[in-house]
Amino acid sequence: IKNLIIFGTRPEAIKMAPLVKEFQKNNQEFETRVCITAQHREMLDQVLEFFEIKPDYDLNLMKPNQNLYTLTSDIITGLKPVLEDFKPDLVYVHGDTTTTMASSIASFYSGAKVCHIEAGLRTFNMQSPFPEEMNRCVTGVVTNYHFSPTETSKNNLLTEDKKDESILITGNTVIDALLFSVAKIKNTDFVDHQVQKLTDLLESDKRLVLVTGHRRENHGQGFLNICKALKTIAEENKDVQIVYPVHLNPNVQKPVYDLLSNIDNIKLIDPLSYPAFVWLMEKSYLIITDSGGVQEEAPSLGKPVLVMRDTTERPEAVDAGTVVLVGTDSNRIIKQASLLLDDSEAYHKMSALHNPYGDGKACERIVNFIKGISNE
Ligand code: UDP
Repeated sequence: IKNLIIFGTRPEAIKMAPLVKEFQKNNQEFETRVCITAQHREMLDQVLEFFEIKPDYDLNLMKPNQNLYTLTSDIITGLKPVLEDFKPDLVYVHGDTTTTMASSIASFYSGAKVCHIEAGLRTFNMQSPFPEEMNRCVTGVVTNYHFSPTETSKNNLLTEDKKDESILITGNTVIDALLFSVAKIKNTDFVDHQVQKLTDLLESDKRLVLVTGHRRENHGQGFLNICKALKTIAEENKDVQIVYPVHLNPNVQKPVYDLLSNIDNIKLIDPLSYPAFVWLMEKSYLIITDSGGVQEEAPSLGKPVLVMRDTTERPEAVDAGTVVLVGTDSNRIIKQASLLLDDSEAYHKMSALHNPYGDGKACERIVNFIKGISNE
């Protein structure tokens, strides 16, 4: 059976890397190739290096001021020769990016069966000016096999009349990636210059608040509010150090560097490699983020998360209590952060909760399912 695994951004790479490895372990039954669109470049390459994955095809599509029209068409036309050369039986796409949606359409054109990893997440807001919900839904339409992280995401697909037997609940592959990384970092042979630098940066007597943010819906006023809140948290809690790896998008870089440079207990740093970020998550007391992946990973490390979004396609975390949605209102961010910084009972209750996103065996389940259908 010929598998083609396609991805383009950092979070997709992290979440697909363990699947590539799992298929490679089963190379008697599968010929597996990897194609990257490189919708992100640097941030993607760092992940590939850590997981020791060498792509077979690299469309190298990242351009300055990239727009959705050219990106979508470049992915579809760029994949044509790849699909015609390799003729995969099955194509694997992940999540909700332009790479996901455009690759699933191209694969449909080629006649390959489409497998969607992290299938069935929904915000139910198709009117949003941002493309993620459309990307998920369009991909869902051309998908043959849906791999849903949770029961909630499976139910979303059933509501859309997808067939029960085409859906498998797997847990999120990000937990597979996380556990792999935690083990690799703990290995004494592992040296990472970013981890070395972080060790020098951190002050051992201060609690660490780790911050990330990148979502387009927060660009503009959202990031201004977020920065205002972080400034207040830093000023009011001198026993806290905020470490913020700032996303490379200029809409994020500008407000963050304008408003938060030169505050002694806020350290703005470049985005981190995945192992360095995992290392930092482990060291942190509290995480404040708008990232999807981070809210799925953090509960496995026992770290409470404040999510700077108003809506979420990840309600399981809110229901389980492992995250609190705080939006981008400065006062709400400050209030919830203060609660967790000041009330150790509330803090420990939250950090002990079970992670609803999985147990690290998602990729094994996916590969076993594919073995099952190919024996039919
Ligand atoms: N991450 C990383 N370096 C960083 C910040 C985040 O490797 O400096 C990882 C993080 O552990 C998670 C993923 O990147 O697995 C999340 O990516 P992002 O927040 O960009 O996207 P989202 O998950 O919101 O789609």
